[in-house]
Amino acid sequence: MGRKLRFAHLHQHTQFSLLDGAAKLSDLLKWVKETTPEDPALAMTDHGNLFGAVEFYKKATEMGIKPILGYEAYVAAESRFDRKRGKGLDGGYFHLTLLAKDFTGYQNLVRLASRAYLEGFYEKPRIDREILREHAEGLIALSGCLGAEIPQFILQDRLDLAEARLEEYLAIFKDRFFIEIQNHGLPEQKKVNEVLKEFARKYGLGMVATNDGHYVRKEDARAHEVLLAIQSKSTLDDPERWRFPCDEFYVKTPEEMRAMLPEEEWGDEPFDNTVEIARMCEVDLPIGDRMVYRIPRFPLPEGRTEAQYLMELTFKGLLRRYPDRITEGFYREIFRLLGKLPRTGTGRPWPRPWPRWSGRPGRGSWRPSLPWPGSGSGRRRPSSTGPSTSFP
Ligand SMILES: [Zn+2]
Ligand SMILES: [Zn+2]
Repeated sequence: MGRKLRFAHLHQHTQFSLLDGAAKLSDLLKWVKETTPEDPALAMTDHGNLFGAVEFYKKATEMGIKPILGYEAYVAAESRFDRKRGKGLDGGYFHLTLLAKDFTGYQNLVRLASRAYLEGFYEKPRIDREILREHAEGLIALSGCLGAEIPQFILQDRLDLAEARLEEYLAIFKDRFFIEIQNHGLPEQKKVNEVLKEFARKYGLGMVATNDGHYVRKEDARAHEVLLAIQSKSTLDDPERWRFPCDEFYVKTPEEMRAMLPEEEWGDEPFDNTVEIARMCEVDLPIGDRMVYRIPRFPLPEGRTEAQYLMELTFKGLLRRYPDRITEGFYREIFRLLGKLPRTGTGRPWPRPWPRWSGRPGRGSWRPSLPWPGSGSGRRRPSSTGPSTSFP
């Protein structure tokens, strides 16, 4: 017997690939642990978003699986601002597999995903090569599935374009760009893989075997079809509905992966590289006790702290909305909610969450020293020891 096959899945969708990923995190992680018990690692690469990243990171870490944070970006054919359907590919966008090598890379993934929604949304949240260039630091890129640019150009026999795009990605990611090899037994993949192998040789690039998992086990393919039918607003009875071409998009064992990419043809490199990339990716998320809130800087009036100004605006809003019917309950609720807010960026805590009361409960004069609208005597300045709130 030969040595143990080393392999890590670096292209895996989860339930967070909305209406396209049928792999529940808990089932997925359990299965990964079972199939690769030694040094298990897994990349999460959902379509267009990182919604599940923190949950995945926490769960995987707890289970002793190395989490690799990534996402499968939608890349606009040209500019993310274009609002037109593309010619070669449905909707004018391509796929690209991105993985965070370090925390900077993770931050860049977040920036890309956010900008895709804010600036590039047209059918899908799309980035483009311009912002990829801006946010490439700390990222590893794999050339992608059949829906990615280079494979699409190969399928269209536009090898010059495929090569030009490859050179562009190489310029962006340098030695962090890899050729992704998938085989689900599709004739298109056979054609694409031959050229990709040639490109890898010509440019001295590493190849990486992935399976583009969309569900955990082979028998889950049907459940995944149901999701796709919901997404495309059709039914399972519709013979024309959008579906995957086969049921090979599950989380394969290393041996099953090897069967699809045999040693005689591919050698060990596409497998070894998955483990090498998993080793390269070290993201330390500041969560739990190390959580840091990053609150945007807000222009403050002279002499006010953030907390004071927020409280002032809150009370102004209260007076505007409920000029005649403010009760003690409003005050209690406001201070309760303000007390829940994290400390400000300056590390300064919020002021004591209760106003100075001018009376005691049950004594008939249960009123805060804050102005009490409707009482006729409101609009006085708060005392210096109470919360620093003033009213116009
Ligand atoms: Zn894809
Ligand atoms: Zn994918």
